[in-house]
Amino acid sequence: MTQASGNNILLDISDVSKSYGNFQALKSISLTMQQGEIISVLGPSGCGKSTLLQLVAGLSQPDGGTIRLGGDIVATAKSLVPPEKRGVNMVFQDYALWPHMSVMDNIEYGLKRMKLGKEEMNVRVGELLNLLHLEGLEKRLPPQLSGGQQQRVAIARALATRPKLMLLDEPLSNLDMRLRVEMRTEMAYLFRKLGISVFHVTHDPDEAFAMADRLLIMRAGRIDQLDTPEQCFKRPASRWSASLMGAFNTLKGRIIDAASDTPVIQIGSQTIRGIMPADRSGTTSSRSTMDGLLMLRPEELTPISLQEGSADGSLNNQLNVQIVHCSFEGTRWRAVAETECGQKLYIVHETPLAAGERMAVRLPLQSAYIYRDEDER
Ligand code: ATP
Repeated sequence: MTQASGNNILLDISDVSKSYGNFQALKSISLTMQQGEIISVLGPSGCGKSTLLQLVAGLSQPDGGTIRLGGDIVATAKSLVPPEKRGVNMVFQDYALWPHMSVMDNIEYGLKRMKLGKEEMNVRVGELLNLLHLEGLEKRLPPQLSGGQQQRVAIARALATRPKLMLLDEPLSNLDMRLRVEMRTEMAYLFRKLGISVFHVTHDPDEAFAMADRLLIMRAGRIDQLDTPEQCFKRPASRWSASLMGAFNTLKGRIIDAASDTPVIQIGSQTIRGIMPADRSGTTSSRSTMDGLLMLRPEELTPISLQEGSADGSLNNQLNVQIVHCSFEGTRWRAVAETECGQKLYIVHETPLAAGERMAVRLPLQSAYIYRDEDER
């Protein structure tokens, strides 16, 4: 089944699986990508991100299912169109530039193979040097460039042949923090300006947010969620998505009102209301109570005094905690707290919270995410 509609589909992955020996790295993956769209693939190490990218690139063959590019079948278990015939270019984490070739020769490499005329080649390369701020560096060899400059050359080289689709495999992970932030914003701007379609694999949710029209969140060879960054952020479809979306405080409890619009979870002796974004109609369990998890973003917890709340937590949607430790993070403070039932909770706050102090934290109703154990595949 496909997940986007319209007749402008560039990439169509249908029921694709891939195993290495007995290990199934991808399990029946289906998705479609529109022309000009940027999809960022996120997920924990080993979930199958690179395997998926390699199948789209043509570097590897699926065991089942079909991959179409621009309407043409490029891969099944029985047929494989090679990478150079797919109109797809890839940018790797380690840049993979030719070390003995100048910046200019690296960028021209693909164009020469296409046998492009000298005049048109000069125009294209000139545009790319300008777009990627590489003017003046044409004659340098890659080892004479900084990491950021090498990455720009790799992007220019990949763009030069005007591919249908750019594949980016952790393109910024070798750069320092400041440069990563700068480059991801520049890349997002550049690809949108050129209308380039991009399939982008990353570990970094911030990079995905900066770049993507849609996020593809994977876990254990499956798609957990495919949606806009805003929707993934507001309604993470699984506890794994929630954790990637910053809600990594995880408290164990007992769900006591799953059928309500604002279900209730009991954490120790306190009851908390939240939402169940993974709940699809008809899947609510008939059991009246069940084990569950409450997931929260540390930045969205509001410390209040114990007097402001109620003992069972119901008045303010609050949890009683004791601060264990607090450290300064530059602009804010990060405290580690413990709930009355001994579970750990991180709180990010503008002012320090004193170690040893007992207090309550007020929880936001719309982003107190509750998941059932059944949701954990
Ligand atoms: P990372 O973020 O660490 O790069 P990933 O999500 O890209 O991880 P993949 O590289 O796609 O994950 O690997 C998915 C699973 O398949 C992993 O468990 C990995 O060990 C396994 N795997 C990948 N390539 C091979 C291979 N050639 N032979 C055997 N197993 C492999």
